[in-house]
Amino acid sequence: ARRKPKKVLMLMSDTGGGHRASANALKQALVARYNVQVDLLDIWTAAGVFPWSSSPRAYSYMGKRPMIWRAFFYGTAFYPVRLVTRLLHDFSLRRRFKKILRGQEPDLVVSVHPMCQHVPLSARTWLEKVLKRPVKFATVVTDLGSAHPMWFDKRVDACFVPTQRLAKNAKYYGVSNVINYGLPLRREFSQKRLSKDRARKKLGLDRNSSTVLVTGGGDGFGSLEKIVDAVAQELAGSNAQLVVICGRNEEVRKRLESRTWPVRMEVRGFVSDMNLYMEASDVLLTKAGPGTIAEAAALGLPVLLTGFLPGQERGNVLWVREKNIGELAKSPQRAATTVSKWLRDQDALVEMSRNAKAAAKPKATDRIAEDLMGLVEGVQRTATGVLRDLKERAPSADWT
Ligand code: UDP
Repeated sequence: ARRKPKKVLMLMSDTGGGHRASANALKQALVARYNVQVDLLDIWTAAGVFPWSSSPRAYSYMGKRPMIWRAFFYGTAFYPVRLVTRLLHDFSLRRRFKKILRGQEPDLVVSVHPMCQHVPLSARTWLEKVLKRPVKFATVVTDLGSAHPMWFDKRVDACFVPTQRLAKNAKYYGVSNVINYGLPLRREFSQKRLSKDRARKKLGLDRNSSTVLVTGGGDGFGSLEKIVDAVAQELAGSNAQLVVICGRNEEVRKRLESRTWPVRMEVRGFVSDMNLYMEASDVLLTKAGPGTIAEAAALGLPVLLTGFLPGQERGNVLWVREKNIGELAKSPQRAATTVSKWLRDQDALVEMSRNAKAAAKPKATDRIAEDLMGLVEGVQRTATGVLRDLKERAPSADWT
């Protein structure tokens, strides 16, 4: 008889698009290969405690206002503030989180969000007593070059990071079981599947134009309109088309759609086939979101970063520069002239594309999935025994 499937509960909050994208990638990899049931849960919204339940809206608000985001990021990273925040969260949420975890009875809890360590880990201790069995807990960090300290909690059984830089970061905060495989990406991103021509045809784009893709993460951040404006002016009259993906930023989408442009222009809202858009493009302009950068790298698409969220995304800029897969343009005008220069220099684009593929880690998702199952199946062994095995299998490349 088939064994009862193990239950994996993935915790996140819908702040931006990267956390859910990574969670979906892991779920896809787990259910394809193992006998598991995987549930995704935005536990902050599910707990329904104000003001925490409105985190996605707060992120959407702050992400559009970099000064406020900077104060929030560095403020909450500062130890005394972090401590008070943790106590406050613990006090107001622990009971709800316990109830939610009790209802789910997971064998393994996986957090893919910086705010899903502290309270769920406290609740885990309680849950293990109630269920009289171990409940494993792993963090999968979905940032790339820099990460908020709330990601790192000593009590986890394993902490998966995408770069050596974050491995060091995790160890600095006292986490001992740190494993560096890469950022989990959805299967569609593990390799380029279509030629540019085919991808353009599938998406109804012009097949003979150089294609510049513009995105701003799941929430469409980062002065999208100003950037599109500058790039459109710069490329006016050329053989190029702009494809702008506004994500959930409906306001910008409507404004862009209502205008007339001096170049071919395609405006989209939230798309579920980002891989096709990337495959169709020659260059990507984006804020420095970790998910988007890693996806572009995997598909060999050069990236021009048009901005970054202070703190959280700063390290992603360093990563892109270090790997020579793109640049940071600090103003829309600069972005426009750089894109135009790149489009005229095919050799540079080919070089960056090659570097991007070399920097990508297409096996990360499957490796993390495999180790997560190791954690679940290894419950009879001692945690350290299981984790020592895991660490030996982890590649030890620097940075990447
Ligand atoms: N994304 C998507 N459709 C869209 C816009 C974004 O699927 O219309 C995905 C994108 O492919 C990436 C994620 O949302 O996986 C954005 O993550 P990132 O880490 O770049 O930024 P965040 O939105 O988390 O700030």
